[in-house]
Amino acid sequence: MMDSASMTVAGALEGLRNKRFSSVELTRSVLDAIAAKDGELNAYLTVDAEGALRQAEAADAARANGADAPLLGVPIAVKDLINVAGQPCTCASKILQGYVSPYDATVIARLRAAGAVFLGRTNMDEFAMGSSTENSAFKVTRNPHDTTRVPGGSSGGSAAAVAGGEAVAALGTDTGGSIRQPASFCGCVGLKPSYGRVSRYGVTAYASSLDQVGPMTRTVEDAALLMQELAGVDPHDGTTQEIPVPDYRKAMRGGLKGLKIGLPKEYYIEGTDPEVMRAVRESVDRCAAAGAEIVEVSLPHTEYAVGVYYILATAEASANLARFDGVRYGHRTEKPEGVFELYAKSRAEGFGLEVKRRIILGTYVLSSGYYDAYYGRAQKVRTLIRGDFEKAFGQCDVLMTPVAPTAAYRIGEASDDPLKMYLGDIFTVPANLAGLCGFSLPCGKTAGGLPIGLQILGAPFSEPTLFRAAAGFEDLQR
Ligand code: GLN
Repeated sequence: MMDSASMTVAGALEGLRNKRFSSVELTRSVLDAIAAKDGELNAYLTVDAEGALRQAEAADAARANGADAPLLGVPIAVKDLINVAGQPCTCASKILQGYVSPYDATVIARLRAAGAVFLGRTNMDEFAMGSSTENSAFKVTRNPHDTTRVPGGSSGGSAAAVAGGEAVAALGTDTGGSIRQPASFCGCVGLKPSYGRVSRYGVTAYASSLDQVGPMTRTVEDAALLMQELAGVDPHDGTTQEIPVPDYRKAMRGGLKGLKIGLPKEYYIEGTDPEVMRAVRESVDRCAAAGAEIVEVSLPHTEYAVGVYYILATAEASANLARFDGVRYGHRTEKPEGVFELYAKSRAEGFGLEVKRRIILGTYVLSSGYYDAYYGRAQKVRTLIRGDFEKAFGQCDVLMTPVAPTAAYRIGEASDDPLKMYLGDIFTVPANLAGLCGFSLPCGKTAGGLPIGLQILGAPFSEPTLFRAAAGFEDLQR
């Protein structure tokens, strides 16, 4: 019997190719799981059951005609800020309620060409601003491992869908940890690709110098299968690089022997939950036992990373979100008196509290008189942080660290303390500031049964080495 709740992308492709089940059967089984479980988990904002079944039928028909494609008939979930033609795209914000995408993002066009089936839209923090998915304007997603706890964020819906058996795989985005941290809270695999590896065309921008799209899956191999389709240059996104896309599955075969793993001493400090620290240290020990070489490295500017990130990300967000003005699309206030009131009231009514906080903060750090003191200085420190990593990667192939200082916390526990929430991003934001690639992999559980994540970071465009390390570590877990 087919078990879609634990099925991998690789397993689905194998079953579809050997005609053990059809894409319609597989998609229906996933839709049944959504119908049964999502009332509690709230991973999805909208489910396109009809559309998904139509795509699955088309995939089956193509296969019956002898066609094959890298993801033909595999049902996946998409974070609600990536445009899928004909489906809603709200970014979990009231300001975009009712908006339907007129076109496919490049990542979606690529996955569609590879035969993927799009199940629906997953919940997130409004405009990807948050770490718990509690900033969604519409619903609170629950962690499948403990429904009193958050799934992490901002791609919490995608993580919960994969972990809860409501999708075979999903897409998320990562500006400061939004793929890796929810993957770690929900016990799945998350990959933030290097900056410039994957197109953002059609992906609602949060902070354009940091945003990347990436896969959230059950295995490293599944991440490779998705990345193979997602990666590559796009004429619609000038930040994508013309660097050939390597064979990621092949790269997985290298093994841990001889791999140089760096442990940044600034990431192994007091303040991280002891159970998380123990699981990460044990993971490193097992890699060493399997033949990896462990070296200590230093990233001396780590303590500034959260501050720098929250200046730069909010500055960029304040510019990116200026387009939501009540004129072109989205929510418009009723009967405004003049154009200024049209802008002000539409935005006041449409944006949630955290988004407003960040627009105000970002506008402030860019304002004349403060620009040099905040934005300009943060740019300089960003360069220093990038330099730290360049130096570290001269001494090792990859870095291993915790993903987050804690496992999943209770719903409501941190939501009224923004600073506390921001500090939880300490281990993930540096990778975005430096354009690195990074995996989050399940590496153990707390005594209470909550997943713990191991972060593996690589230099920009070193995904092959990253896949080698991740697959090597995953093998030790079997
Ligand atoms: N938690 C971080 C923030 O709130 C990162 C979010 C993200 O990566 N989109 O900005």
